[in-house]
Amino acid sequence: MAKNITPRATDYSKWYTDVVIQAKMADYSPVKGSMVIRPNGYAIWELIQKYLDLMFKDTGHVNAYFPLLIPESFMKKEAEHVEGFAPECAVVTHGGGQELEESLYIRPTSETIIWSMYKKWIMSYRDLPILINQWANVMRWEMRTRLFLRTSEFLWQEGHTAHATAEEAEEETLKMLNVYKTFAEEYLAIPVIAGRKSESEKFAGAVHTYSIEAMMQDKKALQAGTSHNLGQNFARAFDVQFQNKEGGRQYVYATSWGVSTRLIGALIMTHSDDNGLVLPPKLAQRPVVIVPIYRKDEEKTKVMAYADALYRELSEKHKVIFDDREQYKPGYKFAEWELQGIPLRIEIGPRDVENNKVVLVRRDTMKKDFVDRQAIAAVVDETLPRMQVEMLERARAFQKANTHKVESFDALKDIISGDGGFVSAHWCGDAACETRVKEATKATIRNIPFDRDEEKGACVCCGKPSEGRVIFSKAY
Ligand SMILES: [Zn+2]
Repeated sequence: MAKNITPRATDYSKWYTDVVIQAKMADYSPVKGSMVIRPNGYAIWELIQKYLDLMFKDTGHVNAYFPLLIPESFMKKEAEHVEGFAPECAVVTHGGGQELEESLYIRPTSETIIWSMYKKWIMSYRDLPILINQWANVMRWEMRTRLFLRTSEFLWQEGHTAHATAEEAEEETLKMLNVYKTFAEEYLAIPVIAGRKSESEKFAGAVHTYSIEAMMQDKKALQAGTSHNLGQNFARAFDVQFQNKEGGRQYVYATSWGVSTRLIGALIMTHSDDNGLVLPPKLAQRPVVIVPIYRKDEEKTKVMAYADALYRELSEKHKVIFDDREQYKPGYKFAEWELQGIPLRIEIGPRDVENNKVVLVRRDTMKKDFVDRQAIAAVVDETLPRMQVEMLERARAFQKANTHKVESFDALKDIISGDGGFVSAHWCGDAACETRVKEATKATIRNIPFDRDEEKGACVCCGKPSEGRVIFSKAY
């Protein structure tokens, strides 16, 4: 099959779009700023939902659904929130052929509609905590589409919890960030840096925002998940008070946290190559493909019987594709499954049947092995989890190799405007220094890592004392 993929070295951004389009993961829609998620992309989202949902339930959360439309007055109740979101909102002004008395915002996020309901549901400390998650679509107006990374409408989950104490809310915020970190690393095979956002990068209406940050192959950062401690800001805006154990009244504490279909973009940009998508086995709906190879009819009978028996054996444990299409040549099939990122390919030709072997090809390394027919099931069982771990390790080594400690503004600038990567540098905590770096390099503080070494130093911008290093990088 003809692969129309621009090599990464030629144009990384074009490569990304080519992979998404050619692997049939998503396509542009007739509506500017919106995308269509095709079955190959949606299958990945289904697995992300499945695994994350289990993790949410395991940590005590339940799912619910709130309306798409939010009254304008709700949006305006929390000052920072409306300032942050209003410019990118789509607003419904007409319904049923008539102008509405009050405009309705298409949700850019659901804090306001959810907290208007929590006001009805929370009376006493006995009603707390509320641990609700919602799987939904949201809309933030965008004209410059990048499939999965930046579109007006996207799919996500948003957790919205209510707590009696500040400590409990903080604990929840960190717990969910850790769920995201575990999910990113163990399922997506994407190593992430967990930490706190600076004041200027936090969510509109939050007290603290925490994030996980991943490094893409072009060495830019991608924020892969956020968790916000909202303090009492939304409870005050919606007047949600509860009677505490002592009989007094106080405002409820809130958190919210989310990940979106952006994770699919992160997955592509972390692992894929010039042949197309590379999927970690846990994110492949069908991790194995068998391709029979034959020319003559007498070869066909033998090869198909051999391949079919193997297909049945492997199907007991795995979802396997048996590519017995006659209208395509083997070379075309290989390229197609490579493009779609199927983790393991098994090729069976007449000679393999004679020798009682199969050919096994790993998508991530493209390494080819001859395996005994008797051993192949065990080899598949063992290779899939090993591939999952090795993909994470490879991405971690890349992130490490491209993270640089610097001690001066010039060194920071050299790296960001040169080869790129994460820059680990001292920062005094002043927003003015953050702005100066951003203006000079377009890099922002991705986060203040939790696991940074506590070491005193001097801010790379102003030289004032710093308590530790933060991560600067350009980002998606
Ligand atoms: Zn400074």
